[in-house]
Amino acid sequence: KFASGKYFIQQRDMRPLHKTFHKFSHKGDFGKVLLIGGSKGKVGAMVLASTAALRTGSGLVHGFIDESERIILQTAAPEVMVAFKEELENLAKFDAIGIGPGWGLNVDLKFYESLLKNYKKPIVIDADGINLLASHPDLIQNIPQGSILTPHIKEFERLTGNVSNHVERLQKAKDFAVEYGLFLVLKGAYTSISCPDGKQFFNSSGNQYMATAGSGDVLTGMITSFLGQGYTPLNATICGVFHHGLAGELASFENKRGTIASDIIKCIPKTYLELG
Ligand code: AMP
Ligand code: MG
Repeated sequence: KFASGKYFIQQRDMRPLHKTFHKFSHKGDFGKVLLIGGSKGKVGAMVLASTAALRTGSGLVHGFIDESERIILQTAAPEVMVAFKEELENLAKFDAIGIGPGWGLNVDLKFYESLLKNYKKPIVIDADGINLLASHPDLIQNIPQGSILTPHIKEFERLTGNVSNHVERLQKAKDFAVEYGLFLVLKGAYTSISCPDGKQFFNSSGNQYMATAGSGDVLTGMITSFLGQGYTPLNATICGVFHHGLAGELASFENKRGTIASDIIKCIPKTYLELG
């Protein structure tokens, strides 16, 4: 904590937040998550998000994607199960849902609205999930309380309008989180997490080599995974953001500016070793 209501997330904060699983755990204990996104030419975002969720520790990962693109997801990520529309009729069976990676803007808005209305627990919303909220702000009121939005700066400005500097932006992020009762993750160096109660957390992990295509999709999968493992929305967000940054540091140690999002995913398991 370094100023009223502001906190700096450091490596030593992680261990007390980690849940432990015992020898007799089964895959159900590690959560069943659903990721929704992908569209023609953007299936990779779903491959990255769902693989990241598995590497973070989710027991079961389902992906809902346009029928024409399913085979790509299945081939690129065999551990991921493709969800069919009928399975989405009972959303309650999923421990966590993440929406948006590679979704495109050509989405049935009634479908989006029904997802937001029918799932009674917090949802992770990223990328085109956020862009659609920016172009259809009436949807925002349907987002379950305690949900987690993860915009980068451009997506955030689409949502709330332009600002002239980062201090103003942080204030807007806080106001948005408080007004709508959501967690607002503003991504970049020192990613900030603005909370519904007005607190703000700043992340210490990560580096500039993570500024690469798909890096944010990896984060979406990670936060959704922690949420599905039973972490509170705040702890899932803190753990997701910190582990993601640490995985990025480990991945870029050798690869430097040649680091790609898949390298970050490969290093997620190492973050647990690093943190002990
Ligand atoms: P996206 O723009 O959605 O792909 O998300 C990019 C991801 O990479 C976010 O998690 C950012 O926090 C992270 N990232 C991008 N640039 C930096 C940077 N300069 N330092 C640390 N993390 C970064
Ligand atoms: Mg993104």
